[in-house]
Amino acid sequence: MGKVIVLASGKGGTGKSTVSVGLAVALVKLNKKVLLVDCDSGMRGVDLMLGVEKELIYDVSDAVGGGCDKSAAIYVTQNIYGLYMMPAALSADDEVSPSVLKELINEIKHEYDYIIIDSPAGTGSGFEAAAAAADRALIVINPEPTSVRGCLNIRRKLTEMGIDDARLVINRFWPERFRAMGIYHDIDDLIDTAQTQLIAIIPEDVQIAAIAQRGESGQKSVPSMEAFRNLAARIEGFNPPLAKKILGI
Ligand code: ADP
Ligand code: MG
Repeated sequence: MGKVIVLASGKGGTGKSTVSVGLAVALVKLNKKVLLVDCDSGMRGVDLMLGVEKELIYDVSDAVGGGCDKSAAIYVTQNIYGLYMMPAALSADDEVSPSVLKELINEIKHEYDYIIIDSPAGTGSGFEAAAAAADRALIVINPEPTSVRGCLNIRRKLTEMGIDDARLVINRFWPERFRAMGIYHDIDDLIDTAQTQLIAIIPEDVQIAAIAQRGESGQKSVPSMEAFRNLAARIEGFNPPLAKKILGI
């Protein structure tokens, strides 16, 4: 039975979609069959990141509303063999409800090793729908206070929803800037403030958008890929060290 992971953040733009894609690609490289579901209705972007935007006809709202067969809203990505995606609705008016999305995910999860759900920022109804079927959550923050506060809000909401398995992903980490900001004493101070167990630190990486476009061949040259490989290994239950060399910490 596939494990269902929701990507969340209290604040917008922390990198949920980017981390969803990086994690999905890294899990596929571990020979896992992965479905990436975009639940950010009205702001969909995973299709663009995976280069499938021109093929799309149906989306998640059609799949739950009976507008198409479920399988018709699932697209094969050309570059990454083993990675499938379901796009979000184009219009925010077509947001799906938590119960119907949960039902859909429960119906299809036996076909995958992992279902990764990319959610809209915040704790609103879109996030509730995205998280409804999740076994665990990854909360994506940037190393700054408003983002950390957003993490605490998400934790509260997850607890209300009965999801206790939440881990912290620190994204866009850049050691020199982190030190120069002078807000947190060190990484442990940041993690303590977020009150959430760390699972990954993803470095600031100007090439990060290329992860899904490079397909099988070029990924080694994307600096953040090592961090995504470590994240995928941790999700699989292994315990690799954090990418300390890249991060310089
Ligand atoms: P969200 O889904 O949380 O709104 P996105 O994944 O769309 O955030 O990312 C927001 C922006 O930040 C994008 O332009 C993306 O390329 C950039 N970005 C995300 N993570 C990183 C990173 N580790 N290094 C550099 N840029 C990043
Ligand atoms: Mg997004």
